[in-house]
Amino acid sequence: MANKKKRGTVNTTRVPVYRDAGFYLEDAGLTKKAFRDELEHPRSPDHYIYSRYRNPTVVAAEETVMALEACSWAILTQSGMAAIDVALSLFQRGINRGKWLFFSEIYGGTNAFIDKVLIEKRGLDIHRFFATEGRYNTDLLEDQLNRLRPDLVYFEVISNPMLIVADAITIINLAKKVGAAVIVDNTFATPSLWNPLSHGADLVIHSATKYLAGHGNLTAGVLCGNEPQLEKMAIEYRKLVGHMLSPDDAYRLNDMLKSFGIRFTRHCENAAKLSNLLNNHPAVECVLYPGLTSHPSHLLAKKLFQGKGYGGMITFDLAGSTNSEKEKNRDRFIELVSDKIRLIPTLGDAETILLPVEAVWGEKYPLPGMIRLSVGIEEFDELETTVVNALNNLIT
Ligand code: PLP
Repeated sequence: MANKKKRGTVNTTRVPVYRDAGFYLEDAGLTKKAFRDELEHPRSPDHYIYSRYRNPTVVAAEETVMALEACSWAILTQSGMAAIDVALSLFQRGINRGKWLFFSEIYGGTNAFIDKVLIEKRGLDIHRFFATEGRYNTDLLEDQLNRLRPDLVYFEVISNPMLIVADAITIINLAKKVGAAVIVDNTFATPSLWNPLSHGADLVIHSATKYLAGHGNLTAGVLCGNEPQLEKMAIEYRKLVGHMLSPDDAYRLNDMLKSFGIRFTRHCENAAKLSNLLNNHPAVECVLYPGLTSHPSHLLAKKLFQGKGYGGMITFDLAGSTNSEKEKNRDRFIELVSDKIRLIPTLGDAETILLPVEAVWGEKYPLPGMIRLSVGIEEFDELETTVVNALNNLIT
């Protein structure tokens, strides 16, 4: 017969991986209390019920994220897209009830989710605020907010692939003036550079697949905030649609988060040095990196991130007198660096990886010489040798 007693604990240094689908509740009285308390006390260490609702290994990793984003609650989901779905669903009240405003320069998957799910399937009234001349004009934003009076505003602090930095504090204040809730995707800036919740954002999401996990081998999402009512709604929605992170991945993420701060500092340092190197090389036509004074967002980034860094992403355009020459140079560069820098469609990995912009963003950015680099945490000298050798080869 199965042992009904609670298992003892050992002097482990971590919350272990609890793979139980359901947890042992002993009697009907305790079961009643567990179900009653479930949403009322989402952080209580007592009475776990079922792992899709709540799991102790996942809660442990959530607490680590809470400390990073300096917030009072965080939930983990099985991808960044799942976190986005939870965040947006909290504000959805049915068809023809409210307008939402999304910034144009957001992750392509989020844009596709907006078009194919929010508009086509859920029938929501969605509007876009477009970047002009490589930046967000907050006067134009104020006009649009006053005309539209949306319930929700959604933006990313650093955009992809042009690395436009949003005037995030002004944007949040303008949105609040018209009574809109604000959701910020902080994946690229990370909590190391900026904490949106400390400046009035209602919710922050992350693709933890990127810098938070940081090794290119885990898919996860974060949704966090300070408002207790939103926490309850988020936990309930995650439970109902089954967006819960697995305990195994939560355990691994919790360990990876221990080195997040030091890793991100190194991503930023390597990217800053590499952006200078690229900027001064004759094989390169232009470099987009918010840390360079030539970037349209530089002053804003300097003010917002207060010298903590400018992120780990660089986008650069290879020189060439025609589009086909640029394309040839791009393909040659990708081939020359491929032993050390591989073409992998993700970012925030410990190793430097790249993406050809035109191949991914096609019609939006038809720039055949352009490459997006996610700069890793390797020894800079190694990175320098790989990149300089390839660039030199292009001009000899
Ligand atoms: N947000 C941003 C800025 C991203 O770059 C991505 C993915 O690339 C996502 C959200 C979605 O995250 P995931 O791939 O973990 O679902």
